[in-house]
This record gives sequence, C-alpha cells and structure tokens, in this order.
Amino acid sequence: MTPSEIERYSRQVRFNAMGESGQRRLRSSRVAIVGCGALGSVQAEALARAGVGHIRLIDRDYVEFSNLQRQLLFDESDAREALPKAVAAARRIGAINSGVEVEAMVSDLVPANAADLLDGADLILDGTDNFETRYLLNDYSVSRDVPWIYGAAVGSYGLKMAILPPRTACFACVYPEPPSGVQPTCETAGVLGPTTLTIGAMQAADALRILSGHADEVSGRITTIDVWTGVIRQPAAPARDPACRACGERNFTWLDGRHRAPISLCGRNAVQIHDRHRPVDLEVLAAQLRPTGTVRANEFALRATIDSYELTVFPDGRAIIKGTTDVGIARSIYSRYVGA
Ligand SMILES: [Zn+2]
Repeated sequence: MTPSEIERYSRQVRFNAMGESGQRRLRSSRVAIVGCGALGSVQAEALARAGVGHIRLIDRDYVEFSNLQRQLLFDESDAREALPKAVAAARRIGAINSGVEVEAMVSDLVPANAADLLDGADLILDGTDNFETRYLLNDYSVSRDVPWIYGAAVGSYGLKMAILPPRTACFACVYPEPPSGVQPTCETAGVLGPTTLTIGAMQAADALRILSGHADEVSGRITTIDVWTGVIRQPAAPARDPACRACGERNFTWLDGRHRAPISLCGRNAVQIHDRHRPVDLEVLAAQLRPTGTVRANEFALRATIDSYELTVFPDGRAIIKGTTDVGIARSIYSRYVGA
C-alpha cells in the first residue's frame, strides 16, 4: 500500500478483521451494482469510500426530483439535467475516491446482456426494485458461483440476504415463485430514506466481509428491519432446497430468457408489455395508483396518467405504456407502478 493509501484507509485497516491484507483484497476486487437508486447509492458510496478497486454501476433510469429524498448520490442539478443515474452516480463516486475505477453502464439488465454486464465481477449487489431482475441475478450467480446480496425496501420495512453459492440457500430456494397480483412499491406505498439507508448499509457490510476474505463467515440468514417500529428480526438461515429449480436442478430459466414477458413497440410512441402471467385486480391497482396521478378504471382496463406517461393495464397483466419508445423505460414504469 502507498503512504497515501495507508493514511486514507487507516481507520478501516485498524479494524482487526480487515487489516492491511483485507484492504489490499478490497483494492483488487470488482463489484457490480445492479440498480443505482436508493440502495445502489448507499452501496456504491460505502464501497468506494472503503477502497473497493473496481465498481461497475448498471442502471436504466434517469434522475428525477422524487429520487432526492433518499438517493444519496444525486443532487438537484442531476435531476434538472435528467442525467442517467449510472452517469451521475459515477461522477459523484469519482469525486469521492479518484482511486476507484468506476464504470457507468446505462443499461437494462436482461438475459441477453447479463454476461457482458456481469462477467468478471467478484460480487453482485442488488439495488433493483423487481423480482424479474432478481431471478436473473440469482440464476447468473448460481450458475457461476458468484455471490450476490439481495436487498429490498418499501415503506419503513426492508430486508437483506446474502447468497453465496454453493454454500447457502439461493433466492429461488426461498422464493420459488414471484409474488402474484398487485404488490406495494415505493411509488405506490412510499419509502423512508432511513429504510433504504439501513438496508443498503447492511448489504455493504456483507460486501466488505466477503471481499476482504471472510466470505466463509457470512451467513445466509434473512434480516428484516422496520425502521419505524424498530423491530428487527433474524430467523434461522433458510435451508437449501435440494429440489430448487436454480441451485438444485440447475435449470436457469430466467437467465435463458424463458420467463421474460415479450415486449414490443406499439404505435408511434408506445410500448406494449405482454405479461400474461400476472392477473391484476384493477380495482386494487386503481386504489394504489390514485395518489400518483389521474386514474380511470372499469372491469376491462385501467388507465393512469403519471407524469408524461399514460399507462393502460389489462386484467391479465398486459400493459401499454404511451409516451416512450424506450423498452427499458417502459419496463421500469411497469415494475414501479404495477409491481415487480
Ligand atoms: Zn436454490
């Protein structure tokens, strides 16, 4: 380590389990952060300050004013310019620690680009907001024996779980199927900054442990926290399921792209998502969406005007998003307002 590195990281190196050898391992580590919103901001900042050598930031969205309440890496000028989150975050990370190599990938992680975006990473951090991407991450992780750290937050409640194949249970052992029906999201149910700060920090702590050479000590337990009531739970680590589709049968259907709802351009300025596996109760969805915009619904369809987009959802889960031709934006709107 150089004298300036010894000075810079002195408080971390003094922590017994880290030491100089742990610090050197951090410097030679490569991390992929998928989703650069509230959780991804915390993870990226914590790991850059800690001296993780290479950080790749993957995100498909743009900074909006409604992000600033909790997404640490962004400021008003990023929102005014509507910068891609990956780009704005990489700039900020570069200013925090110029010794870290940062890569901004403005991209929607999908089966077709998963290898391009994730190969070479020693660890993947989940900063996403949807089950579809998490199943894809899990398939990738289990198929390559690369650890990932799941995190989720909505309202005042959040949870995290480290997945270290082949030792711990994987995401599909715990959640064999995606949740059905309309799910609360940060857009519809809100989210507190301290929720995402806490979960992102816990994910970052697991990351430091794994990258500094202590992966064997990291447990696959799920930790849940309600930052409003202060209730913290940590049930026993889930067992690996020998019949698990992913880590048992090694059947990587999400990585193969077999689960992905087809998506197509439709009309001049609209995208259609042909998700027919998510029956949607339009009345429940209408009640969730009313605070976010104008909503009209009958038994055949729901139409919501949110910002500059018009979202039409049908009872079988199919949706048309007007106001964009970008399939990544359309998917993002679908997962934010209909569910992940
Ligand atoms: Zn499994």
